[in-house]
Amino acid sequence: MTQTIAIRARWVLVPDGPRQRIETDRWVLVEDGRIAAVTAGRPGGADRTIDVPEALVLPGFVNLHNHGISALLFRGIVEDRPTASWAADTVYGLIMPLQGLAMEVLDADELRAVTALGLLGLVKGGATTTMDMFRIAQAVSFDAAEELGLRFYGMPYLFSTEDLGIGEDGRPRYAARGTGESDLARASALFDAHDRRADGRIRAGFGPHGTDSCDADLLAGIRDAAADRGAKVTIHVSQSATEGETLRSRYGRTPTEQLAHVGLLGPDLVAAHCVYASDDDLGLIADAGATVANCPASFARGAVSAIWQRTAARGVRTGIGLDGYSMDTIGELRTAALVSKLASGLSEDATARDLVAAATVDGADALGRDDIGRIAPGCRADIVVVNLGAAHLAPVSDPLKTMVWHAGTSDIEAVIVDGRLVVEKGRHLLVDEDAIVAAGAAAVRKVWAEGQARGYIREGEIVG
Ligand SMILES: [Zn+2]
Repeated sequence: MTQTIAIRARWVLVPDGPRQRIETDRWVLVEDGRIAAVTAGRPGGADRTIDVPEALVLPGFVNLHNHGISALLFRGIVEDRPTASWAADTVYGLIMPLQGLAMEVLDADELRAVTALGLLGLVKGGATTTMDMFRIAQAVSFDAAEELGLRFYGMPYLFSTEDLGIGEDGRPRYAARGTGESDLARASALFDAHDRRADGRIRAGFGPHGTDSCDADLLAGIRDAAADRGAKVTIHVSQSATEGETLRSRYGRTPTEQLAHVGLLGPDLVAAHCVYASDDDLGLIADAGATVANCPASFARGAVSAIWQRTAARGVRTGIGLDGYSMDTIGELRTAALVSKLASGLSEDATARDLVAAATVDGADALGRDDIGRIAPGCRADIVVVNLGAAHLAPVSDPLKTMVWHAGTSDIEAVIVDGRLVVEKGRHLLVDEDAIVAAGAAAVRKVWAEGQARGYIREGEIVG
């Protein structure tokens, strides 16, 4: 059943050539899953009306990098761990082992419950599209995304080795090579089973884990499999200094050069992070038309600056990813602005307008979609309605600046995905939120108990 929804917009963000502009005092009409009109007069005959006096109506946010299952496994544990041993102790000593443990101790229903919990937070925060990386055995992610009504790009991980065998010096030994070929066959089968489910809202692609955990042959195989299917590829790139050193010693190339070498660096690639990429690397990415997913909050907790402005200023399409860490897109945009301004010392960098574009139209372009990320007649109706009428927001001068600098998830009035109202007045309409929170949290606690028993989680890191 399709709904007709009329939304009163005090402000609405509409396309203006390749950029965006605000129009005031409009109605947005949603019909048959699409935006039917943006008009000055109130349209008649709508099934539902969203009428909030101070509503800012935006395209739904596009989250270009996420981990719906794994990020909850170390929620509240990773923060405040020491920088000195971050890569060895935290990335390879906590995050990756807990991900493996989840596969060992959780059944399919429990994995699905954890993913649903992660994705529930995201959609309530206004992310209507999420590109999510998860292990091949966690294909229940597709089901959870469909249940929550999200637009979803599921990108199963591929590895040449899941066990980097990190030594005392923090460097990988590549302890167990050779899982790549079977991963490629399994990921290709997942693509064929899930792509274009749920009226096309659910998409699939390929998610090679990283340039250090996937060898050149696997990356070349992924290039061919993705090209055959017209699929997107996403990969972690230059996310640590160690990764760069590893690639230099194994191949004599930077991670970005390695991607170019194997033929993966192009418009269908979303490169997550690129924090340690050189200026030359960023030039290669820009020239290739690839996209960087900037995830500032996730890195800032580890005392590392992932600088949106640095990448964008070099002509790279730079979208926003929440990395499974934050569920609050508006907060992530604020963090992107803060990190960029602190890094350059220039308060005019990374403006609210730039960052909203990054999280909407630029994210859509990264996915090759000109039918989302825009409030324009004919586009799919992925919409966020932000109520700027609260005490901590009034009075509004520039709605985009007010939102980025002062608002948060609790100010989101409604979220519409593909013409369907999925969140209204802060509640998800399609699922039992309390049940999702209870089941997801119980499953994570099961992983934590085993993680404590095996020493991945230290004494005192879980209180109570
Ligand atoms: Zn990631």
